[in-house]
Amino acid sequence: MFDKILIANRGEIALRVIRAAREMGIKTVAVHSTADSDAMHVRMADESVCIGPPPSPQSYLSMPAIISACEITGAQAIHPGYGFLSENAEFVQIVEDHDITFIGPTAEHIRVMGDKITAKDTMKALGVPCVPGSDGGVPDLAAAKKIGEEFGYPVIIKATAGGGGRGMKVAMNADEMESAFMTARAEGKAAFGNDEVYIEKYLTTPRHIEIQVFGDGKGKAVHLGERDCSLQRRHQKVFEEAPGPSITPEERARIGKICADAVAKINYIGAGTIEFLYENGEFYFIEMNTRLQVEHPVTEGIFGVDLVREQIRVASGLPMSFTQDDLEIEGHAIEVRINAEKLPNFSPCPGKITAYHAPGGLGVRMDSALYDGYSIPPYYDSLIAKLIVQGRDRAEALARLERALGELIVDGIDTTVPLFHALLQEPDLHSGEYNIHWLEHWLAENMAD
Ligand code: ADP
Repeated sequence: MFDKILIANRGEIALRVIRAAREMGIKTVAVHSTADSDAMHVRMADESVCIGPPPSPQSYLSMPAIISACEITGAQAIHPGYGFLSENAEFVQIVEDHDITFIGPTAEHIRVMGDKITAKDTMKALGVPCVPGSDGGVPDLAAAKKIGEEFGYPVIIKATAGGGGRGMKVAMNADEMESAFMTARAEGKAAFGNDEVYIEKYLTTPRHIEIQVFGDGKGKAVHLGERDCSLQRRHQKVFEEAPGPSITPEERARIGKICADAVAKINYIGAGTIEFLYENGEFYFIEMNTRLQVEHPVTEGIFGVDLVREQIRVASGLPMSFTQDDLEIEGHAIEVRINAEKLPNFSPCPGKITAYHAPGGLGVRMDSALYDGYSIPPYYDSLIAKLIVQGRDRAEALARLERALGELIVDGIDTTVPLFHALLQEPDLHSGEYNIHWLEHWLAENMAD
């Protein structure tokens, strides 16, 4: 096992990793930009290294700065958290070239899954069901129109290198194809330096269901059921739960086994998520994330496992501490993402926290790097807290969520907490009957400025 690991991240996820490491008796090194000298992850780690000025490209994304910090402190491994360098194959390669262990999958797995066309081809070959669509990249508008006719509108044009909801455009009919095709291409080029696009049938009422998988890198893998992340704004998740209200134990076992077998076959190591759209009882693969997800705590809650601890274990060469048969679901967990944003426009709202009180009590977990007097810098993601609640069933979890949100105090800035208070008044939220478009419609009706 490692003696010391470095966490190449900030905020709540850096704390999450520090906590797991501490329980395992592993020392931690935090890295930070000059804007984060007073950040909680710096205070909580055993050591810290300033790696550069506030803009991420010069600090949290600076590979030489992070490798140097490892060498100076003697850290034997790097946990990347999510975002930043977590899915950067080049970084993984450089880390390994310096004899440092990357706590995550191999550079090759990241490369394969990072290119959406290759990812889809790979998954198809492994027996994972995919959204019908073009066979690989679509070279030009004429080819795009032909595919539109063949599969029937609506279709979605996606940048091969896309991510974070960018580089995707829907064409409802043939007339919309030209502008959608050109825009997806331009966005792909601008945001990811790659203008290749592919086309999929656009599903009109799907849920977002993702399967958590975990591999030992030696041909063994398990699944930890699904998370339903259908409540999305601009393709970004805001409310996640496990188990999914629409998934039966039989469906879970079936799709879970397909996913676990697929990653076992490629000797996948560590945590991964296989994302699906789910419509009329069918699963359609959309992408695989080769890292820990923001919403991993809901899975940890219902299975009673520590996924970060497990990541560190397998990265150090130890076997997984559970088998598929050990994994049983207990209760229901929900996570809400609380952002420093002002409603109704969700405009970023950094600033100084003048009062902070985190909720507590049975079944409440608050993953946050906030503290009283902390100043949220304007340079990074606006996620400031994840409130995770658990109950014996979904109704109890929802009641607990409402209770916990009521206890939370974050003064001095605006947050998205009022959104969740309002959503909890909606019968659809309680019945669990919604698809990936529900929240956008609800926002248009209830939060238009
Ligand atoms: P990204 O990598 O940018 O997150 P994804 O491929 O994971 O992109 O898709 C993000 C979201 O976009 C999905 O959760 C879903 O809401 C929507 N989406 C993607 N593909 C389709 C599709 N074929 N039909 C309908 N919606 C889709």
